[in-house]
Amino acid sequence: MLQLCYIYLLFITYCCVFMSNHFESRDQIILLLAFTHRISPLVIVRKEVLSMNLKRIFILFISLCFTMIFWCGSASAASYEGKVDGGSGSTINGWAWDASAPDSPVDVTLSVIKVPDQSVAFTNTFTADQYRQDLENCGKGNGKHSFAITVDWSSLEDTEYKIQVTAGGTPLSGSLYYLSGTYSQTPSSISSLTSNGQATYLGSFKTTAYCPCRACSEGWGRHTATGTIASSNHTVAVDPRVIPYGSKLLINGVVYTAEDKGGAVRGNHIDIFFDTHGETRMYGTQSADVYLLS
Ligand SMILES: [Zn+2]
Repeated sequence: MLQLCYIYLLFITYCCVFMSNHFESRDQIILLLAFTHRISPLVIVRKEVLSMNLKRIFILFISLCFTMIFWCGSASAASYEGKVDGGSGSTINGWAWDASAPDSPVDVTLSVIKVPDQSVAFTNTFTADQYRQDLENCGKGNGKHSFAITVDWSSLEDTEYKIQVTAGGTPLSGSLYYLSGTYSQTPSSISSLTSNGQATYLGSFKTTAYCPCRACSEGWGRHTATGTIASSNHTVAVDPRVIPYGSKLLINGVVYTAEDKGGAVRGNHIDIFFDTHGETRMYGTQSADVYLLS
């Protein structure tokens, strides 16, 4: 009976591992799997010594099974990720993906927001369903998840706009601004900082990405070297001999704080913190212009 329970438990665990496309939940399940393997000899010992405890152990196993089903159930909830890659002419490009439904197209909502008063000038919903080879290569399901949205800028007032795209209410990463025919990752207010000398160009750095998973964070999770809790669009790991802790850095239009270090982060290399491992895989290695804000 016990062995049957154990086999059942293993079966469910393996099913979850193969069904789940969510990388972090897969880590959790593998952890549980290791726990299951470890607990089995204990149970067999118990069976020999305390056969009266069979019923109790059975209940324990059943509750473990339910816990796991619940755990896997929560992993299949929609989990959106994506990026606004840039703009050209009247077209805005990017991609959006739901990790819990890897091959299904995702609906995205575009909002064009007037920078001066933050009012929404234009909004519309589109389906991100165009094929892109790099998305498939990155493990984004069948790769049919990119979009090219057209905005009729001539119908809008001539001012600066922020372009925001959301999927299931989650804003996609990558910032994009539009001002008089030109797209930029930084709002003109930040661009003017560099011309005013309030931002100093440090150079083109090698940038990589990390997340709280054990592989990326070497077991530190969100705990940084400076004692803060890492958050996305905020934390970067640096070589403190090159960039002092606490420095505010402008990278790809986002202002980050240097508050972590990494064993492999040396010299002109910055490791950018993301919430999920999927985002780190998508980011890969890129070179980026780095500005130090004063
Ligand atoms: Zn990771």
